[in-house]
Amino acid sequence: MRKGRVLAVAALLLFAPSAASGGATAARGVPILMYHVVSAPPGSAHYPDLFVRPRDFADQMNWLARHGYHAVTLKRVYDSWTNGSSLPRHAVVVSFDDGYLSQYTRAFPVLRAHHWPGVLNMEVNFLQPVGGLRPWRVRKLIDAGWELDAHTLTHPDLTTLGDARLWQEVNGSRVALRHKFHVPVDFFCYPAGRYDAKVIAAVKLAGFLGATTTNYGLARPPGFYTLNRVRINGSDGVQGFASKLTNLTPSPY
Ligand SMILES: [Zn+2]
Repeated sequence: MRKGRVLAVAALLLFAPSAASGGATAARGVPILMYHVVSAPPGSAHYPDLFVRPRDFADQMNWLARHGYHAVTLKRVYDSWTNGSSLPRHAVVVSFDDGYLSQYTRAFPVLRAHHWPGVLNMEVNFLQPVGGLRPWRVRKLIDAGWELDAHTLTHPDLTTLGDARLWQEVNGSRVALRHKFHVPVDFFCYPAGRYDAKVIAAVKLAGFLGATTTNYGLARPPGFYTLNRVRINGSDGVQGFASKLTNLTPSPY
C-alpha cells in the first residue's frame, strides 16, 4: 500500500510537468545531435566520418531552421522534463564533443547567425594544445549562451578504470571546468560512449544531472544518465541528415 502510494506520487511528479506546460511537448523525446570536427577530412584521417564539412554543417542548420526546429541547451530540455518550463515546439540540441578548434571557427558563426546555442562536451586536457579550443574561446562560447559540459580529463574508456582514477576523471573534470569557467557544468558525456553501472554511479555522485551517450535515438526522460544522441557523420550531407531527423521525429508540418 505504502509502496503503491510512493509510486503514485512519483508518477505524478514525473508527468505533472508536461501537463503544466501544455501536454506532450515537454515530455517528448528531443534529438541531441552529436558532432566532432567541423572541417573537411584530411586525406590521412583515420575516422573521416568524424569530420563534417563546414558547408554541410551550415546546410544542416539551415534545414533545421526551415523545418521549424530551434536549438536549445541540454539544461533547458532537462528543465522542461523535470519542472515543466517552456521549450520550443521542435527543440533540438546541437552538441560538440572533445573541443576542436573548428567548433569555434566553423560551427560557432553558423549557430550564432541562427541565434542558437551549442553544447560543448569538453575534454579538459584538450583545452591547451594546438588544435584544441583554448580557454579564451570557450569563454566566448559561454558568453554567447553555449552550455559547457564535462567529457573527462583525458578521454579514457571509463569502464576500464579503478575507483580512484574513475573519480578523478569524472568528478575532477567537473571541478576543473567549474573552477576555470564559473559555470554549472551540469551534464557529462561518456568518452566513446563507454559506460556501465559503476560509471553511472560516479557520474551521479559527482552531482551531474544527466549524461549523454553515443546510443542512437531521441533523448527522453526518465533516463537522464543514458541520454541517446543522433550521430551526424561526414557522409550524411544534408540529405542523410534530413532523413535521420525526419525518421526520428514527426514532421513539424
Ligand atoms: Zn570524445
